[in-house]
Amino acid sequence: MQINENFLNLEQSYLFSTIAKKVNEFSANHQDAKIIKLGIGDVTLPLTKSVINAMTEAVLEMGNENTFRGYGPEQGYEFLKIAIKDYYSNKSVNLVADEIFVNDGAKSDLGNILDLFGPGTSLIPNPVYPAYLDTNIMAGRKINFLDGNESNNFLPMPEDGDGGDLIYLCSPNNPTGATYNRDQLKVWVDYATKNNSIILFDSAYECFVRDANLPTSIYEIEGAKSCAIEFCSFSKTAGFTGTRCGYTVVPHELLVNNIGLNKFWLRRQTTKFNGVPYIVQKAATAIFSKEGQEEVKANIDYYLENAQIIRKGFSELGFWLVGGDNSPYIWLKCGMDSWAFFDKLLNEAYVVGTPGVGFGTNGEGYFRISAFANRANVLEAISRIKAIF
Ligand code: PLP
Repeated sequence: MQINENFLNLEQSYLFSTIAKKVNEFSANHQDAKIIKLGIGDVTLPLTKSVINAMTEAVLEMGNENTFRGYGPEQGYEFLKIAIKDYYSNKSVNLVADEIFVNDGAKSDLGNILDLFGPGTSLIPNPVYPAYLDTNIMAGRKINFLDGNESNNFLPMPEDGDGGDLIYLCSPNNPTGATYNRDQLKVWVDYATKNNSIILFDSAYECFVRDANLPTSIYEIEGAKSCAIEFCSFSKTAGFTGTRCGYTVVPHELLVNNIGLNKFWLRRQTTKFNGVPYIVQKAATAIFSKEGQEEVKANIDYYLENAQIIRKGFSELGFWLVGGDNSPYIWLKCGMDSWAFFDKLLNEAYVVGTPGVGFGTNGEGYFRISAFANRANVLEAISRIKAIF
């Protein structure tokens, strides 16, 4: 028996378990302290009215012999794919429905996509959402890091010799909140085209982009359809972190050695995946109705206002920071070891954030604050933090 020994190369992920342990210990010793959590990137607002109505109707359909549904199309029901396609048309991106694959959230496909590729080298930003690194380690691929730092505003650009047949880009970024502009993405698309690389573009936070000059899809960039796969999610858009639904776009133009990856991905999905529940897909479709879009915008506005309060608070204290304008995350230079800063905020202000080092070595000395929280808590947290600096 030979096991996949690449798993032995994974580093233990202590980040959120260490945070939970420290918070639990602190609560046990300070039972009266009201701890405010601005750490984990999970939404706090519930599913919206349109989503709940659509979901309820779908539940009732499932309980009626005439409207009951069993197995659905693995790649998603047409009604949801058409809604997503129309959403892209509003960004002047023309897709056909069979380029869209509905899934149970972006995380699954971000890992699964590696089924399509053999050994090679992946370019992965540092710091970034940790799943890219771990899935590449599991697959035994070589990894070159793209340095995000203060001098490039945590938006690394390609340099000759970086190589990489797969390139991970996340914009707006988790954890930094930094967002690539069109010119920067064009440079990446040209680099990928020249090097026969494929960009794996994670747009999980696209709905937070409010600056009309910033792209929300890689396909807004000329040439991207021949070199990029896009991953998106309803988790942060519409509070689906527990409901689970997202989608992957694999354009027909995307060829490797004249083989269309869309067909390969369809084959992969129909073999290893049995689709997202009808009820969930109906709920997700409601996000794209007129009311659904208004509700989602109101929720995101709420988080973005939280982000502005956090940004303003830390800026007034003189911290260097990025993010928060078109993203729910604020990334600040904490001026000390990121775990020391975590301890200081917890012990002195009873506020929990996320040490930047948990997202990669370049995150040392930085800290992520999440705007997914209740307004009163955000205001209270900032006033407590102001009192300790
Ligand atoms: N991509 C990024 C950058 C994320 O931050 C997350 C979740 O936090 C995901 C993907 C996963 O999202 P999903 O809930 O759709 O699996």
